Amino acid sequence: MIGPPASGKGTQARRIADKLGLRYLSTGALLREHMENGTAIGRMAGPILNHGGYLPDSCMCEIVEQWLENSGKGWILDGFPRSQAQADFLQQWLGERSQKLDAAVFLKAPIEILKDRIEGRVECPGCRWSGGRAELTGGACPECGEMAETRGDDTLENFLSRHQAYENYAKPLVESYLQAGILCACDATRPRDEVTGQLLAALKSLS
Ligand SMILES: [Zn+2]
Repeated sequence: MIGPPASGKGTQARRIADKLGLRYLSTGALLREHMENGTAIGRMAGPILNHGGYLPDSCMCEIVEQWLENSGKGWILDGFPRSQAQADFLQQWLGERSQKLDAAVFLKAPIEILKDRIEGRVECPGCRWSGGRAELTGGACPECGEMAETRGDDTLENFLSRHQAYENYAKPLVESYLQAGILCACDATRPRDEVTGQLLAALKSLS
């Protein structure tokens, strides 16, 4: 999943994973879990993520590799790759196993709309569901019922910093996946059911 912060990558990735029977990794959610549990990775990631930064490529590749090794075939990655080095790592990892990427999903949305979304975004500490405050029932997560919270890293400052980083890394990645003939681009400002429908149709046409 490639897209700017708050473009709905997590929501769409979960939906597609459900529909297609795939495993789903949100590197952001995984790192926040590490932070809450106070692991070594979490202690290193905390100060970086809380300032709207991203972890170094070597570190991200290691975390994702660990997850991939335990996940078998068939998954969606959200938050990775986020640089050419990470994309190269993924390509190589797959190549060594005679596998390949079937699709790269690109969610497009203008920055003004994303800014508004950031302000209303909440996440569930139980199941890592993420969405808008309006989707909660009395503050509870629609998936598991635990009380959802504002994400600690959801400040306007962090958003702007991440959006800038996104603009730097995404363009070449999108270009290379387009060249490879596996890009599914979608207008992420459409209602989310419509986006899901469009993505599923686009993925089907690729396979
Ligand atoms: Zn939940």
